[in-house]
Amino acid sequence: MKFYSTKNKSLQVNLKSAVLQSLPPDNGLYMPLEIPKLSDNFLNNLSSMSFQDIAYEVTRHYLSDDFSGAEIIDIVVAAINFPAPMVTLREGLHVLELWHGPSLAFKDFGARFMATVMGRLVENEREKLTILVATSGDTGGAVAAGFLGVENVEVIILYPKDKVSPLQEKQLTTLGKNITALEIDGTFDDCQKLVKTAFLDKEVNEKYLLSSANSINITRLIPQSFYYFESYKQLEQRDTPVNFCIPSGNFGNLTAGLLAKRMGLPVHRFIAATNANDIVPQYLDSGEYKPRPSTPTISNAMDVGDPSNFRRMEDLYANDWDNMKKDIVGYTYTDQQTKGAVKEVFDKYTYVMDPHGAVGYLAAIEYDQSYPQEQTIILETAHPAKFLPVMNPILGDIDVPERLAILKDKVKVAVELSTSFESFKEWLLFRS
Ligand SMILES: *Cc1c(COP(=O)(O)O)cnc(C)c1O
Repeated sequence: MKFYSTKNKSLQVNLKSAVLQSLPPDNGLYMPLEIPKLSDNFLNNLSSMSFQDIAYEVTRHYLSDDFSGAEIIDIVVAAINFPAPMVTLREGLHVLELWHGPSLAFKDFGARFMATVMGRLVENEREKLTILVATSGDTGGAVAAGFLGVENVEVIILYPKDKVSPLQEKQLTTLGKNITALEIDGTFDDCQKLVKTAFLDKEVNEKYLLSSANSINITRLIPQSFYYFESYKQLEQRDTPVNFCIPSGNFGNLTAGLLAKRMGLPVHRFIAATNANDIVPQYLDSGEYKPRPSTPTISNAMDVGDPSNFRRMEDLYANDWDNMKKDIVGYTYTDQQTKGAVKEVFDKYTYVMDPHGAVGYLAAIEYDQSYPQEQTIILETAHPAKFLPVMNPILGDIDVPERLAILKDKVKVAVELSTSFESFKEWLLFRS
């Protein structure tokens, strides 16, 4: 499979280049040249397949030029090693729990898959691959856990001092091995600037073979289609239209759903749920895409003012607004409404939903008022215990899973640096 740039369809590269570059040189986004259509046989037999079987069938078309069948199986087995169970709140309203991975957010699917594929692509290279990544919180934890112990790859994570939650910080700073955390005395934007400058620096590039773990990497997108099929499999009845409701920020998760639909999954509609950062719902309303600086909210992993995957969505619909509107509906909610939804879901269904999922719940309910004969699967994108300062005042102290609770007692190891590129560069060039 070749991958093309959304800015220029004749700029085409193989998987290895698409993965290691992340972004095409023309600043477009990579897309698969053909989206494989899965057989009816596959769709009819989903019930008899494991999650890993499904992942193999969905992904093998994208990887088969670069890996043998046995290697693709190995990749899937290594990357998709936690489940995506579905919970039914009431008839026609389901929740797909995507937080059973190591960092308790759906980003584990993309990060683990990317780490596994990248590790394979460089395992026979003489030079080690160094991933530089700036994080404002969630991405760093998933990337660190995904790459932990991957041979021939090291990860350097830059995070802003005092600006990630204490548990998020522990997720970045307690792993050791091939993961190094740099605590930057500045903002997320400063971290990102240091990473960008390093990519352009001659001496840094002479010492390191650099890559990024950017969320727009195609190997983070592909595995996010797997669980659309996996949840469809878990539906008890499929004779009413099936919608997916996706709490969205950069719209990678929703774009992966669009890929699943193109591959043949019978999705009726995608419900795009956003917080105050409602650039895409506004686009669906008006036909005008107007990015703007992001607004902070309590569902902060969705605080995105210029969603990077929007270009892929446009590409999939050949820039046809009317057609996109047939498949995707958008809704937006305030923090106050979101808190109300956390409480409502608990009161009605004794289910604890995180603030991102709660935005999805509101959208699913609003959609249902117009189309009550359909059914909707809400993607629950993170475990609620990742957001205790929001959750506990609403529901009282909620349960914290063991693998999050133990982080509290682990010792943080981080290198403290200023925002000056010279000091970052010196550290990169002269560290032992
Ligand atoms: C990243 C994230 C989102 C947004 O996903 P996109 O693919 O960027 O739209 C939603 N919820 C949580 C918990 C996240 O970490």
